[in-house]
Amino acid sequence: MPKSPERKVWSESYSEWFHKVIAEVPVYDTRYPVKGTGVWTPFGFKIRKGVTQIIREELERKGHEEVLFPLLIPDYMLNKESEHIKSFEEEVFWVTHGGTSPLDVKLALRPTSETAIYPMFQLWINAYSDLPIKIFQIVNIFRYETKATRPMIRVREVSTFKEAHTAHATKEEAEGQVREGVEIYSRIFERLRIPFVRSVRPDWDKFPGAEYSIAFDTVLSDGKALQIGTVHFLGQGFAKAFDIKYMKSDGGYEYVWQACYGISERVIAALISVHGDDQGLVLPSEVAPVQVAIIPIVYKGKEERVVKRCHEVKDELARSGFRTVVDDREEVTPGSKYFTWELRGAPVRIELGPRDLEAGTAVLVRRDTLQKTVVKVTSLSEEAEKLLASIDAHLGGREEKWMGERISRASTVEDVRKTLEEKGGIVEAPWCGSRGCGEELEVKLDARILGVPYNEGSAGEGHTCINCDGKADRTIRIARSY
Ligand SMILES: [Zn+2]
Repeated sequence: MPKSPERKVWSESYSEWFHKVIAEVPVYDTRYPVKGTGVWTPFGFKIRKGVTQIIREELERKGHEEVLFPLLIPDYMLNKESEHIKSFEEEVFWVTHGGTSPLDVKLALRPTSETAIYPMFQLWINAYSDLPIKIFQIVNIFRYETKATRPMIRVREVSTFKEAHTAHATKEEAEGQVREGVEIYSRIFERLRIPFVRSVRPDWDKFPGAEYSIAFDTVLSDGKALQIGTVHFLGQGFAKAFDIKYMKSDGGYEYVWQACYGISERVIAALISVHGDDQGLVLPSEVAPVQVAIIPIVYKGKEERVVKRCHEVKDELARSGFRTVVDDREEVTPGSKYFTWELRGAPVRIELGPRDLEAGTAVLVRRDTLQKTVVKVTSLSEEAEKLLASIDAHLGGREEKWMGERISRASTVEDVRKTLEEKGGIVEAPWCGSRGCGEELEVKLDARILGVPYNEGSAGEGHTCINCDGKADRTIRIARSY
């Protein structure tokens, strides 16, 4: 049996690989002449749709309802919560004119939608019975990124921003919602077979206006961490800024408690990056636009029969619910067709030739290991089904293992530096918790403190801080990150 290929370690060439794959499939075209924007191609859009479908299902399963708010936010609304605006003011695109006339009120292109949504919460919420509210939208947002942009990862138009916003009567309920948000996201990433760690971000790196933020990070093949989702407890900060209150049973008023959480197309960048290999995309079956690609192996004189049989097989598979195509392009060799569907990450390929027709067989090739098996053509549906399940399980296990090997422990700053340089990934170390010490550490290591492990206890307790020799009361995670 051939050995399963491990995730490739790209180091220097990862970024080149990523650009090449998204251009060659193609998934996303970066040639649009506005910096930091890109175009989802038909095939890329199908992958994106598969991912947003999973996001919608998981949120709706937990009682979230989809909404759609305007793109434009008046400046006085954006400016209401002071922490929030301080952090975004350098990143906001402004609409200042209608035609040639200056507008009375400047309008921001939403950088995120708290300040668009919460004034409406103020109108919608009056009584206890109006709570909780749990909504989400999947929209584009705009941020004037000044650092070098990167397709899907650092962009000026985030084209796929899922933001959920909730309001609750009590602090306990809102914090319960934060935990539910974390569980929903875990489930989304598990379905995509993207491995992750969850960390409570340090105070200086939390969402502006939040009391605390929990973030999901994965590690890409070059060893750098990528934030792929965040969940925030907002407390009553925005409720006070936007005057969102409900009447209690004693007739008094109470500000609501809030949570919000976001995911962007970075999750699609992660999906492509963690599973892909030298041949191109490798996609879990749930989001593969084509799950089974059927390739006729034609010889002169036998084309018609073979192609006809391939279409019959396709119809049978489609009836069983598979997304499938016959690649019957003429003048293209079977070899180039294999190449096409490997590049596009179709989990299963079926090869059918005249000899198979006679023997009543077909050749199945799985994309993750490129392993071939010969099966009876009458049992293709069951075999394909089994193969998809086996590929998904293999991808999940392989990535989990890969990521597990990239989480290291260290007890000195030098150890951390060495690990980050030689192996990359995430390093855990004991830390004192002081902001000054943390920021110094980030500068020393040219790395980011991802935060304290979420919900995992505090293994750093009783040790010495790796940086300042003070008493450590927690473990932190450190990584070079995007
Ligand atoms: Zn310290």
